[in-house]
Amino acid sequence: MGSEIRVRFAPSPTGYPHVGNIRTALFNWLFARHNKGVFLLRIEDTDQERKVEGATKIIMESLGWLGMDWDEGPFFQSQRLDMYKKYAEQLVTEGKAYYCFCSSERLDAMRKDQAARKLPPGYDRRCRCLSKEQIEAEKAKGIVPVVRFKSPTEGQTAVTDLIRGDVVFENSTLDDFVLLKSDGYPTYHLANIVDDHYMDISHVLRAEEWLSSTPRHVLLYAALGWKPPQFAHLPMILGPDKSKLSKRHGATAINEYQNEGYLPETMINFLALLGWSLDDKTEIMNRQEIITNFSLERVSKTAAVFNRDKLEWMNGVYIRNLNIDDFTARCLPFVERGLPPEVKRPVDAIYLKEIAPLIQERAKTLNEVPQLVDFFFVAELDYDTIMLQGKLDKVQAVNVLEKSIVMLEQLKEWDPDIMEKTIRPLTDELGMKAGPFFSVLRVAITGRTASPPLFATMAVLGRVRCMERLKAALQKINS
Ligand code: GLU
Repeated sequence: MGSEIRVRFAPSPTGYPHVGNIRTALFNWLFARHNKGVFLLRIEDTDQERKVEGATKIIMESLGWLGMDWDEGPFFQSQRLDMYKKYAEQLVTEGKAYYCFCSSERLDAMRKDQAARKLPPGYDRRCRCLSKEQIEAEKAKGIVPVVRFKSPTEGQTAVTDLIRGDVVFENSTLDDFVLLKSDGYPTYHLANIVDDHYMDISHVLRAEEWLSSTPRHVLLYAALGWKPPQFAHLPMILGPDKSKLSKRHGATAINEYQNEGYLPETMINFLALLGWSLDDKTEIMNRQEIITNFSLERVSKTAAVFNRDKLEWMNGVYIRNLNIDDFTARCLPFVERGLPPEVKRPVDAIYLKEIAPLIQERAKTLNEVPQLVDFFFVAELDYDTIMLQGKLDKVQAVNVLEKSIVMLEQLKEWDPDIMEKTIRPLTDELGMKAGPFFSVLRVAITGRTASPPLFATMAVLGRVRCMERLKAALQKINS
């Protein structure tokens, strides 16, 4: 084992990776990249009951989407069962662990009794001192035992945490936890430390909720005669109401953010700030800047708050910073998916690129883009006459349309500046305010009262479509 930094992301495939999991992955990845170390991926799939089909695939795709590449793995704990068994048995042989034959009925009754008597839950150690003969007798009955660790019953175990300092646990609160289950699968505690040892993990960076498991791990390392890695427990992530972040606070699975049109750049920046900061004020940092500056010293002890408004704002910033080709390319799948079905597919990417600069400023997520651009694509607009007239009466609105049509038809060049110079004087001529006047044209051209700049929009839409729409509006109002 050298001085090399080696860290791991060790998710259990019991669900789709959520914001908290990915923040853990990110901090490990940043720590590895900052220190030119190794980031490895280990799938902790030892809980056969809670395993979710497809979760491993989504975990890997999410890391891929965010550009968090791993140097080693993926390793699967389910493929290393012999290894865990070997160490469980070694500990039994050395008298540091023992077979437990208690039935699940007995354990349930014990727990109920403890709850009724308001005692802390935990195994009552009935099998801790079985004699050789008793063990053989139980085995002869065909009962497959679990292996439990012999935790010390008194004294204290200290965990040295790089973020929290020394955290001391009373051994009396640690029960004789299971190492190996009767199905031959290890528990999290055993598999986790065997792997961290064999994979030469130098630092364990994980969520704060695992801190209470760490004294058990420290004791296990000692029992096996291994040097433990360094630990750093990352602060909790809370929802805006200051309770632990959960589904109640909206999307938590990371692929939902992808589907909603958040950029991976945004997510990296945003998640990095959930518990780490450069200087308490810098918000926008690209991936390389974060890698360069990342350190555990600036990871906070106090919980981070997940602020969705900030995420949206940040995504808008990243969207605006994309060059137009990149922005168009990223919009394309969302537009394909989100435009009304009658629009011809595949969507015209060259046309979309002309539209893109008109809406880039306004999109906070890529998912909003189809609604922002649909009027460029649909054959017919759907709006009602009331909206078209706006503050004007029918005669006035008809005037706006008729005069504009005449002027625009005479134009030799379909250019936004020329259109503007030609049309704007009509407001004086008709004695109207610019607002209501342009509103008629805007609704006729886009079908809505708010849109990108009108003449730039008309230039992209093209002469033929614009004239058709103005005439259709006129017909609509007259009918
Ligand atoms: N499998 C655990 C999890 O799902 C790993 C915890 C750890 O990093 O030790 O988070």
